Amino acid sequence: MVSEGSKIIEKVIILGAGPAGLAAGLYTARADLSPLIFTGIQIGGQVALTDWIENYPGFPEGIGGNELAELFQKNAERFGARLEYDTATEVDFSSRPFKIKTYSNSFEAQSLIITTGASPNKLNIPGEEEFRGKGVSYCATCDGWFFKDKVVAVVGGGDSALEEGLFLTRYASSVKIIHRRDELRGSAILQERAFNNPKIEFVWNTVVKEIKGGVGVESVELENVKTGKRSQLATDGFFVFIGHTPNTDLFKSQLELDEKGYIVVDERYRTNIPGVFAAGEACDPLYRQVITSAGMGAATAIEATRLLEKESE
Ligand code: NAP
Repeated sequence: MVSEGSKIIEKVIILGAGPAGLAAGLYTARADLSPLIFTGIQIGGQVALTDWIENYPGFPEGIGGNELAELFQKNAERFGARLEYDTATEVDFSSRPFKIKTYSNSFEAQSLIITTGASPNKLNIPGEEEFRGKGVSYCATCDGWFFKDKVVAVVGGGDSALEEGLFLTRYASSVKIIHRRDELRGSAILQERAFNNPKIEFVWNTVVKEIKGGVGVESVELENVKTGKRSQLATDGFFVFIGHTPNTDLFKSQLELDEKGYIVVDERYRTNIPGVFAAGEACDPLYRQVITSAGMGAATAIEATRLLEKESE
């Protein structure tokens, strides 16, 4: 950080502490930029909510998502990254230093790395909001335990639906995966595991129209998209894994976003504002993996370091 009178100007502020933010923190800390990271509500981001990760290189037996997130954090902190348990609420990129307000204070920074990640999409059907936390969930690792020996339904056909569906078989007596097509989008290895799991049953070509219940979820109303036929499925839990939306609302009026809300970056992860970079799921509609997000985070840190070095020459 740099002191201008009584005002402190940070060299780098990082918004978000998932794999991208913590990798950016590690690299900028090792470049002696003493990065300040606002963690948002979830250190580790979506990784910390994932039960088990098998495709992050270096862990041939796999590693718990929460443990990996803690290792990322420790690694960044070891070299001087400062984590603040706070969330940015307002940003002003109209001039440098950039201005950032959080719940607790106001900050200024010469450069900014945005790694705010993405949040799970909702179906937006009747009952979804009403039964949220009462049977409706977007996180199997967080809520699976509540469904010991119960029936749960899962919606989606991607890696998340398969992985979380498989995780739920540890607790639930039966897991019904409801997918709107008759072909899955998820990876071959997860498809194979799901098809071979005796507790998993697929409900193909089907969408959910409504979630019903009393104190908690009791059933869902289904519609077959080919025949239009409606039916009821009794279930105690209802898990939704139908993709994600980038957490970029805060930047709408300041940065160029694409039609889905992803921050537009060039091949060097630069946004349309010089000095503002983005990494991870906030700007990545294509890969969305722990390894790619961490890699992008490292790249933004290298870019920010080079920019600040050039400007101080
Ligand atoms: P995704 O790959 O975008 O899949 C979303 C699924 O939800 C699709 O099957 C889609 O159906 C369905 N869907 C979307 N909107 C729907 C709606 N309104 N109603 C019903 N179904 C709907 O999302 P994801 O599974 O969350 O995965 C996101 C990214 O993370 C992917 O790149 C994935 O590879 C990665 N990921 C990787 C792992 C892993 O490597 N172990 C684990 C989790 C996630 P359609 O197929 O018909 O479009």
